[in-house]
Amino acid sequence: MPLTPETPLTGLPGVGPARGKKLEKLGLHTLGDTLDHLPQRYEDRRECCSLQNAPQDRPCCVAVIVSETPRVSYVRRGLSLVKVKAVDESGTVHITFFNQDYIREVLHRGESYVFYGAVERQGNLFAMTNPVFEREGAARFTGLIMPVYPLTAGISNNLLAGLTRRAVDECLDGLPEVLPAQVRKSHQLCQTQFARKNIHYPATFEELAIARRRLVFEELFVLTCGLAQLKDRRSVGAGRLMESSPEEFSALLPFAPTGAQRRAMEDIAADLKSGKAMNRLVQGDVGSGKTAVAAFGAWTAAKNGGQCALMAPTELLAEQHAKTMDALLSPAGVRVALLTGSVKGTEKKALLSALAQGEIDLIVGTHALFSQGVEYKDLGLVIADEQHRFGVAQRAALAEKGGDVPPHVLVMSATPIPRTLALIIYGDLDVSVMDELPPGRTPVSTYTVGEDKRQRMYGFVRKQVGQGRQVYIVCPSVEESGDLPQWGESGGVPMDLKAVTTYAHELAEKVFPDLRVGFVHGKLKSKEKEAVMAAFAGGELDVLVSTTVIEVGVDVPNASLMVIENAERFGLSQLHQLRGRVGRGKHQSYCVLVTSSRSETARERLKALCATNDGFQIAEEDLRLRGPGDFFGKRQHGLPQLKVADFAADMELLKEARQAAEDLIAADRSLKKPSHRLLKRRVQELFEENAELFN
Ligand code: ADP
Ligand code: MG
Repeated sequence: MPLTPETPLTGLPGVGPARGKKLEKLGLHTLGDTLDHLPQRYEDRRECCSLQNAPQDRPCCVAVIVSETPRVSYVRRGLSLVKVKAVDESGTVHITFFNQDYIREVLHRGESYVFYGAVERQGNLFAMTNPVFEREGAARFTGLIMPVYPLTAGISNNLLAGLTRRAVDECLDGLPEVLPAQVRKSHQLCQTQFARKNIHYPATFEELAIARRRLVFEELFVLTCGLAQLKDRRSVGAGRLMESSPEEFSALLPFAPTGAQRRAMEDIAADLKSGKAMNRLVQGDVGSGKTAVAAFGAWTAAKNGGQCALMAPTELLAEQHAKTMDALLSPAGVRVALLTGSVKGTEKKALLSALAQGEIDLIVGTHALFSQGVEYKDLGLVIADEQHRFGVAQRAALAEKGGDVPPHVLVMSATPIPRTLALIIYGDLDVSVMDELPPGRTPVSTYTVGEDKRQRMYGFVRKQVGQGRQVYIVCPSVEESGDLPQWGESGGVPMDLKAVTTYAHELAEKVFPDLRVGFVHGKLKSKEKEAVMAAFAGGELDVLVSTTVIEVGVDVPNASLMVIENAERFGLSQLHQLRGRVGRGKHQSYCVLVTSSRSETARERLKALCATNDGFQIAEEDLRLRGPGDFFGKRQHGLPQLKVADFAADMELLKEARQAAEDLIAADRSLKKPSHRLLKRRVQELFEENAELFN
């Protein structure tokens, strides 16, 4: 029977039911599946040398004749050796195998074999240890570029390689082409058959590169087609027309907007008068002035007779925003109110009724803004500060609060993400990047210190407090570190909450008995947490010890020092976020990273942070060092698992694929054309497999 991509693996030579089960663990059921099981690396086994000419710095193949019957010796329990000699015209090689007794049966005196491995030279003697070998003339896995696959127990690389070999040799013809001919042509991508064959068995590394390029493109193209469709679908939604003028609004600000703020406002103004619903993300580093941009949105909505809801992740932040907005916008006649969980009873009743009557233009609050019983007269714009707390479910809930026309949506994020990546992750949102800080900021000075400087560091804390400043001390706690990368080489002992608590008490009682020290951690009730934060914000505490709960948005301009314990345990972007809590006032600010890690990588990462205050640059570096999975942490992960592409390394191709996808979707938005039928199916499959990401 001819082999097809649908041929089950179980039943093929060498694959019984037991191995079949093990292959299933790798997701491999059919021969076609093996084509998608890509090598993780390759061994160059092309070079065939004589013993005399074998290179010393890399493995190679040697064709030799076995000159004796293999000998087995048992060194001790659990360690046996098979030794055998072999010759070619240039010398003799002593070959040793560890714990592979069966080799005695397979190597025969007088026969020719090809061995692949490192040839060591000791004077005129040659030696090889645990080489791979095959009978000369029947070579399948020597004399070529050998794929090395991800494996599982009980499945050898040779078995897998044998299966992919059969798949490549016998069932490539039936493989459908997903990429439209036009796309393939204009981006100079090879055919799918060529790509599949050469990703497994390339004749040269150039061919491998050609194959890989196509597969990466294909993967990113399918993904971005999906995202482009999603965006397209959302953007057909009608939106109410709002006229506005960034110029006019800017007159209300106590400062001149930065270029980045101006551009973001222009983007928003254009969206609001486009007639379509706005779905925009404003991405700006901490302190880049996103609040003013949000205020512009609220002001515009009010001017056009609509209401605006501004949602913050915590009550404390909501209060802060309400104050700022009121100061800024009430002179322009915008009526601002605050709705949080603490607003209760008659006060709440009055507020809700005012909201329903349209007597409030801008309501600031937490998730409470979208709970049951909150009615808007005419909700025209929703702004969410700190996007990662603002999930799909909330977006759906608020869409219902709008009338016939869904409200415009503006999302503000302080998590810098490398540009290209943002375009993918927020593929369904338009993105404005604010990559400029207001003038006159003194950058935060950042230092790394070891344990030996701990006393000096405490002295520095005391000095800052002595000058009237306030200090944060952050300790990562393992219980809350769902997002923390577990750096294997971390030198610091991970602290559990108990250890952090003990440390906090020690600081308060022994190190700084004369200072006012507060402590917050994630296990506190939010009321308790916010009470401590509010005390710190109000200047009633000198030092705030915390786990990572202060990461998001608190603004205490008087805080001038951020100390981060076990700094190597945080991701760079997270450290940058934490550092952004200081340097918000007129005082020179400092960030001290305490680490006892000796690891080179850990040090290198922290050095990158000391060297720059640019969040985007740090994000790029973080992505390069950690890869996207870790980069986003569990909470923010929003991407399907990629098989071939690497977001960090394949940026250029990502841009190309994305452009191609957008062009294609613009021309054929529901992929109706017959030539797009396969593509459509692949996009659907991707969406079905990752339903939680794409809804
Ligand atoms: P973030 O982007 O982190 O939300 P904020 O909006 O809180 O930043 O702004 C940080 C600080 O910078 C605030 O005190 C704000 O008043 C100030 N600020 C914002 N824009 C400007 C500007 N264009 N010029 C001077 N100061 C500004
Ligand atoms: Mg902010």
